[in-house]
Amino acid sequence: IKFSDLSLNPKVLKAIEEAGYDTPTPIQAGAIPPALAGRDVLGIAQTGTGKTASFTLPMITMLARGRARARMPRSLVLCPTRELAAQVAENFETYAKYTKLTKALLIGGVSFKEQDKLIDKGVDVLIATPGRLLDHHERGKLILTDVKVMVVDEADRMLDMGFIPDIERIFGLTPFTRQTLFFSATMAPEIERITNTFLSNPERIEM
Ligand code: AMP
Repeated sequence: IKFSDLSLNPKVLKAIEEAGYDTPTPIQAGAIPPALAGRDVLGIAQTGTGKTASFTLPMITMLARGRARARMPRSLVLCPTRELAAQVAENFETYAKYTKLTKALLIGGVSFKEQDKLIDKGVDVLIATPGRLLDHHERGKLILTDVKVMVVDEADRMLDMGFIPDIERIFGLTPFTRQTLFFSATMAPEIERITNTFLSNPERIEM
């Protein structure tokens, strides 16, 4: 199987080719087709397996049509740490370079001002740590009712860091009709419970 067999946006394919990727990794081959078909995905995979591209590439493809409105991001990626969020943002930049899609990185330790400016302009993809995302929401700056796709990355680390209540709150702020792509290295009972509550008939891909 090749990336060109996966029905990805041609602009995404061009960026992947430039990045030097030849064939999809197993998590990519497993997750991309159901994600593009609109299914929820439960990916059980460690870092280093190519899981970032397995959610970023279909997201870019699905969002390529349409435009974000002010304060209403069209998709959301939740990461446990600032470092991981920054890494996802970098990946997004690489894969979306030939599209007009916009992003904002919402992490703590940075002033709200620049983040506010981006949100006010409207972004297609919001990449955030849970605490900072909720801070923005509580300040009345962020509306999550237009979110079409929500990604939870490294849910097992979210659990270790005590972020599960925040994640549940954020799920509750997004529409029922959203698509959810959920990734975890392990499936602790608490993670299993969250996926049973918030994912709808997910395609389960285990590496
Ligand atoms: P991740 O598991 O998402 O952190 O990705 C691990 C590393 O693999 C990253 O440095 C990616 O740039 C790289 N990578 C992701 N997908 C592929 C692929 N299909 N072929 C080659 N390298 C890849």
